[in-house]
Amino acid sequence: MKVLVINAGSSSLKYQLIDMTNESVLAKGLCDRIGIENSFIKQSRGEEDAVVISKVLKNHKDAIEAVISALTDDKIGVIKSMSEISAVGHRIVHGGEKFNSSAVIDENVMEAVRECIDIAPLHNPPNIIGIEACQQIMPNVPMVGVFDTTFHSTMPEQAYLYAIPYELYQKYGIRKYGFHGTSHKYVSERTAELLGKPLSDLKIITCHLGNGSSICAVNKGKSIDTSMGFTPLQGLAMGTRSGTIDPEVVTFLMEKEDLTVKGVSTLLNKKSGVLGVSGVSSDFRDLHAAADEGNKRAQLALDIFAYGVKKFIGEYIAVMNGVDAIVFTAGIGENNSIIRKMVLNNMDFFGIKIDEDKNKIRGQEIDISTPDATVRTLVIPTNEELAIARETMRLLK
Ligand code: ADP
Repeated sequence: MKVLVINAGSSSLKYQLIDMTNESVLAKGLCDRIGIENSFIKQSRGEEDAVVISKVLKNHKDAIEAVISALTDDKIGVIKSMSEISAVGHRIVHGGEKFNSSAVIDENVMEAVRECIDIAPLHNPPNIIGIEACQQIMPNVPMVGVFDTTFHSTMPEQAYLYAIPYELYQKYGIRKYGFHGTSHKYVSERTAELLGKPLSDLKIITCHLGNGSSICAVNKGKSIDTSMGFTPLQGLAMGTRSGTIDPEVVTFLMEKEDLTVKGVSTLLNKKSGVLGVSGVSSDFRDLHAAADEGNKRAQLALDIFAYGVKKFIGEYIAVMNGVDAIVFTAGIGENNSIIRKMVLNNMDFFGIKIDEDKNKIRGQEIDISTPDATVRTLVIPTNEELAIARETMRLLK
């Protein structure tokens, strides 16, 4: 059984075709600049280099057509015809309170996803367009929606409610939802496998650190708190996002800088975070390079980020009354040994100690803690596409 995994953004669409008999990736690719000039599709098979093909992609339907033609292409393809695709798994960012698990897509599910647009105006519309495009081109193929939010649907009220008038929660659904759920779930399950213990016996803190970053307290396999909130802006300082700040800064800035609602939202989402502090870049590799050359603000941005991660770890140890494993994943979590070291430095009070040599190893699942550490610290590459494909299979069985 071959499952096509689709992650549709506003102007890009990422995909993977996974053979579920052995969970191997047959091909993966990206349609980029959809609806903009110079659009293209890029696809790679296994370990082969990616092939880039210029193609007019006016909309997401063109993109899905391009995906199917690349997958079935004589030269670069991996299947003979579209009929080999048994199912499609779609990443959907926001399921609001309507979904506490993945769902087989039908008209009712689509309606519920549309109703979530109000609270996810940037993310859900492209996901919906991607699903509709697939439905047009593959009308008879079953499809499943896997939401970033559902893993966090187990959070207790005290964790997800904001202390604003309760009526506003009831009226608008303003609460913490959390994101990156597919990744937090995947790496926490992998942690249990690697430690050879049942998930139901474990207290895990998962740190998904990429351009967007979030941390999750996973108690007995369930998310009980996470750092992102009503939107992916809350929590840690990120590449370009401010993370949590005093909410009064928003009104202050609107007044002093004469900013509109959109203006202040752009400032906090696109111009802040480590980019805003450093004035250098949102990319951590650039920040390290600048810091090494003596750029103090680049170093400060790194310090703020690492300090934020450390504080969430402390918070979640308190919330769970302990921790068995701390897990690092995503671009920074998997690759950035300096940030891991900065975060975990001076935490031996909690039994957290890492081996400096093991910490330098990259690109593989590894326990980087010292033998005498009482808390395991793991690096686990995330695999959201595989997790979506597995969910798709599970629901269609
Ligand atoms: P996204 O949230 O867009 O999926 P990623 O998970 O790809 O982001 O993470 C991107 C971040 O990971 C960037 O800040 C990048 O600098 C960082 N990163 C990737 N590789 C390395 C590396 N080898 N060393 C340090 N940082 C890295």
